[in-house]
Formats: sequence, structure tokens, C-alpha cells
Amino acid sequence: MVIPGLDDLLAGGLRGTRVLVRADLNVPLRNGVIGDDTRIRACRPTLRKLLRAGARVGVVSHLGRPGGVRRPELSLRPVAPRLARLLDIGVSFCEDCVGTTARAAVDALGDGQLLLLENLRFHAGEEENDRDFARALSCLADAYVNDAFGTAHRAHASTTGVVPHFSRAVAGDLLAAELRHLGVVREPERPLLAILGGAKVSSKLGVIEALASHAEVIAIGGAMAYTFLAARGEPTGKSPVEDERVDDARRVMEAVEAGGQRILVPTDHVVAQVVGEGAPSRVVESIPDGWLGVDIGPATARTYADEAAGARTVFWNGPMGVFEIESFAAGTRTVAEGVARSPGNTVVGGGDSVAAIHSLGLGSRITHLSTGGGASLEYVQGRELPGVAVLER
Ligand code: ADP
Ligand code: MG
Repeated sequence: MVIPGLDDLLAGGLRGTRVLVRADLNVPLRNGVIGDDTRIRACRPTLRKLLRAGARVGVVSHLGRPGGVRRPELSLRPVAPRLARLLDIGVSFCEDCVGTTARAAVDALGDGQLLLLENLRFHAGEEENDRDFARALSCLADAYVNDAFGTAHRAHASTTGVVPHFSRAVAGDLLAAELRHLGVVREPERPLLAILGGAKVSSKLGVIEALASHAEVIAIGGAMAYTFLAARGEPTGKSPVEDERVDDARRVMEAVEAGGQRILVPTDHVVAQVVGEGAPSRVVESIPDGWLGVDIGPATARTYADEAAGARTVFWNGPMGVFEIESFAAGTRTVAEGVARSPGNTVVGGGDSVAAIHSLGLGSRITHLSTGGGASLEYVQGRELPGVAVLER
């Protein structure tokens, strides 16, 4: 299967062509002020190429979860001036993403001009993948580009329903780059090290199981580690153990060992009595009653970092501890530095994991930071992404 890309679209000439771009501009917004604008920056290469080719570009995206109703605080309007500044062009904004106003706004564009349309999810038809809504979106343009990797695992009107209406529908450069880099984890140079952490086993069981049968080494950290410790019969104090996942954790560990691979769980821990700024903490090998694990310990962190040095491919998802609190961030920092130093291909996915890498200033030393949390996990575990499958020719 081949996924057509931007170059295929550009080859036909785009001057005067109306192009609908599904981008992922789902940035953190507070009182109309944009926080991290990584996602806006990430779609620039695609937009620049289209504009340079003389296309008339209409950009659509979702923002937050308005649930099919117009919620002013989730308007994409504040994104327009930021996009304008980052692209160094004028960007107009349209109050709706379908209907006569949207049509008129797109038809008013000149060659090489760009318009941002309002939040797709103000219409219930977007998430319902409603046929009429998809058709209404398709009326806006002559060609379609999906560059919204972060939403590619959702079969929504703007990611899948709209596609059959276009004879020209391609992946943008960001989507293509994500698939290329995450594809390296699916078909890795070996050994492959998977470092998995974060909040919950339950939200990541699929990726844990998939990588357990695929990676030479799996290193477990974060809150999910305590469910694995419980499965080994080790004391966990009042750490966040998911009782209903203990059997799954045991099964994963048995499968890994039966397959001749290795699964590493923390051998030392940073523990506290409460999770909070300034809470007293100490390093232990066995978690005492009344204490809970808030980070992997220094010996564990060194072990994981050393594993990264010997791996040809590293995939990391999920912080090793409550990294938002400085005194519980050391494990995440040591592992991040180890991954950054690794000579292998290094791929980090997950919103919090990528934020941790950025806050440590290590972004430029990682081969690929994925812009999609859920989508990256689904793709890495070998699942088909609906928004990608529909583009395949
Ligand atoms: P990602 O967004 O990278 O996929 P997750 O959302 O799964 O990662 O997990 C990140 C969250 O997990 C962070 O907010 C972090 O504080 C939390 N976390 C990590 N370790 C622990 C722990 N030991 N106890 C409680 N929370 C933890
Ligand atoms: Mg998260």
C-alpha cells in the first residue's frame, strides 16, 4: 500500500486550486492565550509548500471537546494570529467550517492565501462521522490534505468521511514524517528498547502487550510500575496499584520471559507520604507501609539509561515519576538524558513525555518527538489508523 503525499499533489500543479487541510491545531488554550504552540509549528512545512505552489488553502481542525456545540472558549480564532505570525503571512478566520459563510470565505481566497475555519467539533457531525457533514466539508475544496497525525486514530468526518469525495487526497508532510519515524519502531533495528511509564497500566495495556512481544528489552517505570511490583509479590505501600490489572501485568512478565526477552521493573524507588511540592522523600529498595512511590530510584534510572546506550532503537512513552514536581523528576531526567545520548534511533511519544523532554531542553537530541499521543501508541502497537488507511491507494 502506498500513501500518496504532498509531492504527488504538487506534481499536478496547484495554482488556483482550493485545498482543504485537516491540521491538528488542538493547542492548550487558557483565557484565549495559547500555551505550547508546537502543534501550530508542526504543520508549517505542509502549509508553506501549498502556499508556495499557489494553492488557496482552507485549514480545519478541532480544539478541545466542545461536544458538538458552539463553545466560545474553544474557538480556534486565537490560533489565526499565531499561525499568521509563524507563517509570516495574513491569515483570515471564518466563524464556521461548513455552510454558505465557509464556502464564501474559501471562494474569496486568492492564489497562495490561507484561511482558518472554526472548530470542527462545534458540529456533532464531525465526531459522528456524519455523511452530510462530511459532504459539506468536501464542498469547500478541490483537493484534500491530512496533516493531523494526532487525530489519525479517529474515524471522524474530517479525517475519513470526507476523503472519498476527493479525487486528490494525500498525507501532509507531518503525517508522513510521523508514519516514517514511528514505522522504525514497528520494524526496528535491533535491539529495540521500550521504556514505558506514565499514569496507568489500564490506559496502555495494548502497547505494553504489543511491545512485550516485539522488543528485546522492556523497562517499566512511572505509576504503572507498582502494579508490576504487586504482580511480583513485592511490597507497594500505598502506591497507586491497579488491582484489576495485576493479573495482566503478571501475564505480560511471563510472556516476555518465556520469549527470551527481558522486562525490567524498578529495583529502587523514591517514596513520599504524600504527592506534593516539598513533601519529604527518601530512596528505598522496598516500599514501606504508609509510603508511596513517586519516582524510580537512582539505581533503576541508571540501569534504564545504560540500556538506552546499548539499543539501536528506543521507544519511550510515559514519564518515570511525578516529573511535574522537581524533587520527583530525577528518574525521568536521568532516563531522558540516557535516551538523548543513545546512538540509536530514538522516538518519544505521549503528551507528558514530550513535555518532559522539552522542559529538560533535550528536544533536539531525540530523533523524533511525536505530536500524537494516542495515535502514536496505536500505530506503534501495529494497529491501522483510520485516517491513514483511507488515504492508501
Ligand atoms: P504520556 O502523556 O506521556 O502518555 P501519561 O499521561 O501516561 O504519559 O502519564 C503522565 C503522568 O503520569 C504525569 O502526570 C505523571 O505525574 C504521572 N506519574 C508518573 N509517575 C507517577 C507516580 N509514581 N505516581 C503518580 N503519578 C505518576
Ligand atoms: Mg498524558
